[in-house]
Amino acid sequence: MAHNLRVARSYAGTARLFAVIKANAYGHGLSRARRGLAAADGFAVLTLEEAANLRQMGVEQPILLLEGIFGADEIAPCAELDLWPVLHHAGQLDWLRRQPPVRPIQVFLKFDSGMHRLGFPLAEHAAAVARARSLPGVAGVTLMTHFAQADEGAGVDWQLQPFLHEVAGHGLPWSSANSAALLRYPETLGAWARPGLMLYGASPFADASAEQLGLRPAMTLQSEIISVQSLQAGEGVGYGQLFRAERPMRMGVVACGYADGYPRHALTGTPVLLNGRMSRTLGRISMDMLCVDLSEHADAGVGSPVVLWGEGLPVEAVAAAAGTSSYELLCALAARVPVLEVD
Ligand SMILES: *Cc1c(COP(=O)(O)O)cnc(C)c1O
Repeated sequence: MAHNLRVARSYAGTARLFAVIKANAYGHGLSRARRGLAAADGFAVLTLEEAANLRQMGVEQPILLLEGIFGADEIAPCAELDLWPVLHHAGQLDWLRRQPPVRPIQVFLKFDSGMHRLGFPLAEHAAAVARARSLPGVAGVTLMTHFAQADEGAGVDWQLQPFLHEVAGHGLPWSSANSAALLRYPETLGAWARPGLMLYGASPFADASAEQLGLRPAMTLQSEIISVQSLQAGEGVGYGQLFRAERPMRMGVVACGYADGYPRHALTGTPVLLNGRMSRTLGRISMDMLCVDLSEHADAGVGSPVVLWGEGLPVEAVAAAAGTSSYELLCALAARVPVLEVD
């Protein structure tokens, strides 16, 4: 993670970096991420609980609450722990007006530039900024927005232009870039960038690999073969018998399944790395096991190491084969998977 943070830094210019560590740091563990990303200028999480945990771990950098406060009762802890909430609807401003914190807090005011998820629409934005600035409980306002297609061909311009137009009128610091924008669109940098995925060494783009971007996978999901089977032509494998051997072949059973976070929807042919060489899954993924093709792996047997994703096998490749995203795979790593720290 530290390496990937340095890569992010090399793209960031003068922008400061919030390391986005929501969802248990995309499955990597909050405490682990806090150590690996200790050099970040700030951290971004979702909940008060995560933020309080970080403070307890000794984090002194700013902490951004990406969905802000969920009720007026969260204002006091924000002041107490110096948390910076994102304000994205008028109700949150009402809470702050009625129950001002004992110590004024920094807030991020979210502009909806087209994602249509969170934020003030153009018609309400200027008034919301004026209101936020007038609140005695608010020490400073940073404007922010979030991109819907920074990782796609459509890019950021259709959202960035209206956002910058709004920003220009207020003379306030601003923040817009996620990983994809940070990597591709320097004009999105502003005062603070908010990279998440890239810090874990995955590429947000379909047309550029993590390796091409200089990123290294922080997580390698690894297991081993616990059983070897010989299939005759016509014999099927696993639940639903979705794969049938066309000719006699060897097959390995790997101790990893959807209860570990491996995607159940991965089809036959999803890549795996077996003894350092590519192979593929066969049939349906079970709760605790999956099957792999040993036809070209005469050397493999019980105990052979299998990489499901990570070092040597980008999580993006597995995600593509399973019809999902690397975000979802990393986040879904199950609590039961033993974690070995090697960095
Ligand atoms: C999750 C999130 C990010 C990080 O996005 P990545 O694509 O993982 O870099 C940035 N900003 C906001 C508001 C987010 O919710």
